[in-house]
Amino acid sequence: MQRLARCSCGRLSATAGGAPLKISACHCRSCQRRTGSAFGVAVFYAASDVAVSGEASTYVRTGDSGKELTFHFCPSCGSTVYWQPQFRPGLVAIALGCFEESSDLVPSQSVYGDNAHSWLDLRFG
Ligand SMILES: [Zn+2]
Ligand SMILES: [Zn+2]
Repeated sequence: MQRLARCSCGRLSATAGGAPLKISACHCRSCQRRTGSAFGVAVFYAASDVAVSGEASTYVRTGDSGKELTFHFCPSCGSTVYWQPQFRPGLVAIALGCFEESSDLVPSQSVYGDNAHSWLDLRFG
């Protein structure tokens, strides 16, 4: 199955094939800032199963592990569509909210739960 993920304006997209390897909800402050929302959800695929299209700007930050994450976002609208975590070589994370169809993409884990907003009631992980 092919899934298309795209930014708000549509200029930057990623197409993923096959099944995701892991889906992770993250409540850390960096994911909150990146998304402007209460948490971020990363859908991990093998890099070989992901094809990207369009111009991307990058932002690199160092995670708590000390390893870098490279975020790719649309220079026109600012949506972060995908990123590469150095601590998971060979994998690409795609932002759940960017997928055209995501109703069946359910997180398999929740991380930084201690930082989760108290009003969240997430039944997974
Ligand atoms: Zn865009
Ligand atoms: Zn996070």
